[in-house]
Amino acid sequence: MNWARRWRDLKPWLAEQLLARRPVISCLLFSGAAIPMLLLFTGLHTFAQIHPQARAFYQPTALMTVQVLLGLVIAGVAGVSVYCWGRRKTDVACHWLALLTVTPTVVVLIALAIAYGLKDTPVSVFVLTAILLARALFDFKTLKPSLVIGAGMVLVNEALVGQGLVPYAPLLSGPVFSGHGLAWWWQIWCRVVLDFSLLSFSGMVFFLFSTLGQRRHELEELVRTDMLTGLANRRTFMTQLEIESHRHARSKRPFCLVMCDVDHFKKINDTWGHPAGDAVLVELARILKLTTREQIDTAARIGGEEFAVLLPETGLAQAERVAQLMSSGMRSQIFVYDGKQFSVTQSVGIAQASDGDGDGAMRLADDNLYIAKRQGRDRIVASAAAPAAEQDTNIACALK
Ligand code: GH3
Ligand code: MG
Ligand code: MG
Repeated sequence: MNWARRWRDLKPWLAEQLLARRPVISCLLFSGAAIPMLLLFTGLHTFAQIHPQARAFYQPTALMTVQVLLGLVIAGVAGVSVYCWGRRKTDVACHWLALLTVTPTVVVLIALAIAYGLKDTPVSVFVLTAILLARALFDFKTLKPSLVIGAGMVLVNEALVGQGLVPYAPLLSGPVFSGHGLAWWWQIWCRVVLDFSLLSFSGMVFFLFSTLGQRRHELEELVRTDMLTGLANRRTFMTQLEIESHRHARSKRPFCLVMCDVDHFKKINDTWGHPAGDAVLVELARILKLTTREQIDTAARIGGEEFAVLLPETGLAQAERVAQLMSSGMRSQIFVYDGKQFSVTQSVGIAQASDGDGDGAMRLADDNLYIAKRQGRDRIVASAAAPAAEQDTNIACALK
């Protein structure tokens, strides 16, 4: 078995999962790290229960309670991971699954850190590891309950220990190391340094994760949009078309696809220059945005001077009205360049989809656009795709 190669493959896979943050995989990864962590403590405690010398350092009742608590959390987290394993190929977004994985783990680790004595044992490093891992795999909302509960537990414990109402390190029976007791100022110093270093370290890592998340979001936006016009790009449009096609296949509600192409655009570039051509594209994009519904329709630039609009839950007649608004908006826009004025027209092909066939609708809209060009440009040609069972009885209607 080539372990070096396996490790090489594992690293990009892990990085991909961390970035993708698929809830089910995140739960599996978190429980995969948490269960060994918790089992380590269970193992140490079991050793302490059977070894007389080690047993002497522990409070027997507290040790039993901690063991039961650990057992319950391990069983719970293992249960969630078995549930997630069965759904590892799906993309179910289950906030409660993540909560069920993260909250008990972080809370039990904080309880352990308190039980062992917050400042003298390295259990808090496990707490930090679990918190950071949870932040890397899930959003802050998932981690918040654990942080609130954990901070509450630590503060209440500190107050009670300060008042002498509960013992420090209640899991241990006495001082674990022999020698002189620590001076009070040294204890305070250690506590302040530990708390502040943990706080600043976790704050820094949290900041890093949220910045990375923000950058990822910005990059995703960049990949989705067209730089010049700010509209969706071809890739986003095709994804949305697929989603809408599936929805249409289920709901049978009509949806239309509009394709616009600027007429004689090459001539505009040649006559007025490339920047003037760009200004025309930006203007057309603005008109498309104005005439479509925000959050419902998708307007995209799918090629040089070609635009497409997806109109969900829209019949052919309504789509034609929208296209007329677009075309008249474009026609009435006066562009001024070099002191000279010019206007621009566009040709439009519209298709109403049938049987959830988005690609078919795209082809039909393209054919209709071609017909509009052939018939003299500056016009709209619309038709509905024929249902698969029927003959192609489309009637193309040309509208000026
Ligand atoms: P038709 O009426 O048949 O559509 O003719 P057309 O001239 O509009 O179409 P054609 O496909 O011949 O030319 C498209 C031109 O669009 C060619 C290309 O230089 C120009 N173009 C493509 N992308 C951009 C861009 O981002 N900015 C500018 N200014 N021009 C672009
Ligand atoms: Mg053109
Ligand atoms: Mg073209």
